[in-house]
Parts: sequence; structure tokens; C-alpha cells
Amino acid sequence: MIKTRFTEMFGIKHPIVQGGMQWVGRAELTSAVANAGALGFLTALTQPTPEDLRKEVKRCREMTDQPFGVNLTILPTLVPRPYGEYIDAIIDSGVKIVETAGNNPKPFLPKFKEAGIKVIHKCTSVRHSLKAESIGCDAVSVDGFECGGHPGEDDMPNMILLPRAAEELKIPFVASGGMADARSLVAALAMGASGINMGTRFIATKEAPVHDNVKKALVAASELDTRLIMRALRNTERVLKNSGVERLLEIEREKGRSLKIEDIHDQVAGVYPKVMIDGDMEAGAWSCGMVAGLIHDVPTVKELIDRIMAEADRIIRGRLMGFLDGVEPKQAIRAAAS
Ligand code: NAD
Repeated sequence: MIKTRFTEMFGIKHPIVQGGMQWVGRAELTSAVANAGALGFLTALTQPTPEDLRKEVKRCREMTDQPFGVNLTILPTLVPRPYGEYIDAIIDSGVKIVETAGNNPKPFLPKFKEAGIKVIHKCTSVRHSLKAESIGCDAVSVDGFECGGHPGEDDMPNMILLPRAAEELKIPFVASGGMADARSLVAALAMGASGINMGTRFIATKEAPVHDNVKKALVAASELDTRLIMRALRNTERVLKNSGVERLLEIEREKGRSLKIEDIHDQVAGVYPKVMIDGDMEAGAWSCGMVAGLIHDVPTVKELIDRIMAEADRIIRGRLMGFLDGVEPKQAIRAAAS
């Protein structure tokens, strides 16, 4: 058991979060994470309507009696989404934890607070984390450049970002981006975080409700296989490379700074269902972290979480405590299943 300010605040057993992921954060995965003692998030915008989100929360509640939350991502979308109605659905459904991401959640905070909801805001910089703290967020998820999805525009890796966040923040934070195993957890705790947030790693689990081709692609991918897209739109996204993404990058090279979202519509629009449901791995851009290089197997969620916690204990008591005896311990530190 590793108790932290974060586990205490959110009433969870393990300092591990499954962050919001389009088309992945659905009841099957989120309930499995909750049942394994960590904090899972349904992804609001995966549900086509706020009414569908209400049903998904109900479905998740039928699968677990443990706490779980809902992620609300506020980024540019091709079709405008009724954020206010999604917020009402979250509140009505009785969810008490929300993860916001993508933009300043200030306009939504009064409603969440009034409903007794705790808010974790995902931030890619120290200044955004401080802003989140100042407007009343309960915790932040500090997201380094390694992350899948939207890393912001500062390109700050976690070796710098996490200790900088620890220097400045008063509220607890979890480390996000590049997190895969016990080594990530222990390193994040050492740098001042109160836990870790994993996205891509949770896609390669038995319960993740996505096509097997996606899980196989993550096991096969190396840390060199992600690409950054949409930088010219200041909406940078880290995705797994494929032929659709290569075409998108060609268009970006041709258009340069004059790139418009319409130019890459075919490579980004409607890609998630094609990849996640149909298993078409060449369809276009879908978020994936560099951490793919550390994913070597497809365990159950419980196996993954139990393994991280057991291995973290061994790293702390064996390797780290061993250093205090004056020599480097011989215990090998490698990824499970490698
Ligand atoms: P979508 O189909 O509406 O858009 C596809 C992609 O194009 C998204 O990355 C979106 O941000 C981007 N985009 C759309 N309109 C844009 C514009 N006018 N300018 C710049 N970029 C634009 O999105 P979706 O796949 O249905 O996803 C819904 C939401 O979830 C989006 O906001 C998306 O960014 C977000 N998302 C977040 C993550 C994450 O890492 N947090 C991962 C996947 C998707």
C-alpha cells in the first residue's frame, strides 16, 4: 500500500489514475480500474449525447461500487459539442470526480463545486497548474511532452516538469505522460508527484473496449513510433504513426504555416471508431504516447495494477534502500514481461 495525499483525497487504494481517452474511456475499462483500486475516468465526449453519458455512468455504476470519474476535454472539435449539457449530465448522474483537460475550466468550476465535485485539471505547464490551483481545482495532472494526445506547445519533458511543479504547487498532483510501470511510479513519487496517470498503457489491457489490432500495435510499437501533428494549428497532438498520419505530415509540410484544419480533415475526422472499433490501423491520427516503447504485454487491469504496486515495493525496499548500504544493488530493473 502506498498512501499519498492523492489517494486520501479521492478515497482510492492505489496512486494510479486512468486518464480520459476518446473511445477507450468507457464503462468496461473504467469499472475494471475502479475495481482494481485505482481511479478510472469515463470520457464524456466519447458519448454522442449528454443523455448517452448519463446511461454510460449508470452502466459503469452497475459494474463497480468503487469511485470513478468523468473526463471532460475542452479542445477544438470539428462538430461543436454542448459542454454545458454534458456538465449537467455529469452533475445529475451523481459523479463526484471530474478530470478537465485542454482549456481553462474556470467557467465550469462554480457548478462543479456547488455539486460537491472534486476537479482534477490536466496541465502541460507549471503556469497552467498554478492557474488551476488559484481557481480552486483540487488537484492537477501534470502532463509531460512524452504524453499521448495533446502535450501543449512548450515541449517540456517530465524530468523537468514534475520537479518544477513540485517546487511551486500546494495542491497534490499526479504525473502524466510516459507512465507505464513501477519504475514510472517510483520515479514520479521521487520527483514530488502523489501518483501517476496512465493513458496509453491502459489501452493495452484485456478490458479496454477496443479492437485487438490496437493492443497488438501498442505491443509492437517502439518509443520511436509516435509523431507530432497539428503544430501549425497550435493544437499539437502525439499520435501513433501509420500511413494516414504519414499523408497528414506530407500535407503539413506542403502547407507550412498556412495549414488549416480542413486540409487534414480526412486524416483526423472520424478516425477513432475506425481504429478502435474496426481495427483499421492505417485510418489516420489517434493519440498514443511514447510510452508505447515500454508496453510489452496485454494483462488484465488488475494484473497491471497489482504488478505495479508489488514491483514499486521491491524497487523502493530493494534497489533504493540498497543504495544506502554503499553499493549499487544487483536487482535488475526491467519492464515486466520483457
Ligand atoms: P474531432 O473529430 O472533433 O477532431 C479531430 C481532431 O482535430 C482533434 O484532435 C481536434 O482537436 C482537432 N480539431 C478539430 N477542429 C479543430 C480546429 N478548428 N482547429 C484545430 N484542431 C481541430 O475530435 P474527436 O476525435 O471526436 O475528439 C473530441 C475531443 O477530444 C477533441 O477535442 C480532441 O482533441 C479531444 N481528444 C483529446 C485527447 C487528449 O489527449 N486529451 C485525445 C483524443 C481526443
